[in-house]
Amino acid sequence: MKYETVIGLEVHVELATNSKIFCSCSAHSYGADPNEHVCPACCGMPGMLPVVNKRVVDFGMKAGLMLNCDINRTTTFDKKSYYYPDLPAAYQTTQWFAPVAVNGTVEIETSNGRKSVRIKQIHMEEDAGKLVHDIREDTTHVDFNRTSVPLIEIVSQPDLSSAEEVEAYLERLKNLLRYAKVAECEMAHGTMRCDVNLSVRPEGTDILGVRTEMKNMNSIEAIKRAIEYEVARHIDAIENGTEVLVQETRRWDDIKGKSYAMRTKETAGDYRYFPDPNVMPVVIDDEWFNAIKETLPEFPEVKRARYAEEFGLSEYDADQLSKSIALCECFEGAVSVCKNAKDAANWMISEVMSILNARKMTYDMLNIDGKALGEIILLVSEGKVGRANGKKILAAMFDDETIEPAKYAEENGLVMSNDTGLIEATAKAAVAADPKAVSDFKGGKEKALMSLFGRCMKELKGNCDPQVLRKILIDEINKQ
Ligand code: ZN
Ligand code: MN
Repeated sequence: MKYETVIGLEVHVELATNSKIFCSCSAHSYGADPNEHVCPACCGMPGMLPVVNKRVVDFGMKAGLMLNCDINRTTTFDKKSYYYPDLPAAYQTTQWFAPVAVNGTVEIETSNGRKSVRIKQIHMEEDAGKLVHDIREDTTHVDFNRTSVPLIEIVSQPDLSSAEEVEAYLERLKNLLRYAKVAECEMAHGTMRCDVNLSVRPEGTDILGVRTEMKNMNSIEAIKRAIEYEVARHIDAIENGTEVLVQETRRWDDIKGKSYAMRTKETAGDYRYFPDPNVMPVVIDDEWFNAIKETLPEFPEVKRARYAEEFGLSEYDADQLSKSIALCECFEGAVSVCKNAKDAANWMISEVMSILNARKMTYDMLNIDGKALGEIILLVSEGKVGRANGKKILAAMFDDETIEPAKYAEENGLVMSNDTGLIEATAKAAVAADPKAVSDFKGGKEKALMSLFGRCMKELKGNCDPQVLRKILIDEINKQ
């Protein structure tokens, strides 16, 4: 029998606000000492009162609008009860009855074509702390820096049916949320985490099979392997009766390449959700709603179309650039200075992207200033700096964001020379040093010129117009 896989995702995304969701503690604990960013509120002390961080609601709304959701204009917080040492209040403040955003869609594209994935809801909630097990044997330490860091949880309908679709969906979420500047969405940094709900059923049927959930997956590769393993396990259980499938939470061990039962799945009733009496309902009036709507960025598709139309870029170039807001901003910054979109696109795609690839950086990690790139492009197109040296300046900018291209070129001997006397002397010396190349060239071997050309360019540190050098070299050879 043929089976189809049914996957729904719950994706937790850390919002990029400065402070936590219900107190003024810093939400960024990278490099901080354990329990440095804590206060009675985020530590769940008796009598503490949470106050909703407005930025969190702004970002929650923005995320909802990016994913085509309806915004609940009165959104409320609820308590989700569970006991675990990383949760000091013994309940998580989250949204159950009226989440900030509902009924969205996310469009994805895979080798199977386009697909629309329905979003059930997006709710805002607080993160839990971190348990640290490896400081001393037989002890566990708790770090509350992460408690109450704001999250949104994006809950999809079970509309995904392969690892490829899951990857495309996660990439799309990341792209959209980064465009809106509400979140980093970097799995490797823990700012995006994913729970995978999965079941299989005979192809063409409507009934859902027994569903298992794998929690807190934090790499796309691990998610792909876990999906493959779970699908095989489910089908084996159904076809060969190797085990009885039960609804449960499982842990994926990426090293062993296996999933293990953790606990039977809780139902909503186990969490005893109830409205949090300490947090007032948040009412989003028209003024607030419209203000947020106005801050929405151009969507990737709109940008892509505009790049093709306004700048005359090829479909491929426009597509590549719109893959990441960081690329778009660098490109647009460069165009604003050099006023030549095709040149700027060319530099982005051939030079900037190859440096990113060579340094194993993602597009989103691009940190160079587009305006500075525009200045390099100008220096090269005006013949003040050779193209190869322009690339050198660009590479240096990846290490030092403060570099000013013209000044850097000046200080590092990368300015093009108009000194034909120097070029002639260099060409003369090269010709004298390599009589074989000279006779080869005279004998019709065009390639022999390249070795002489290269020798001169190296000598001149690239600061020479290639056309001028070529002409002078040929003149020198003919004098022989
Ligand atoms: Zn706090
Ligand atoms: Mn959650």
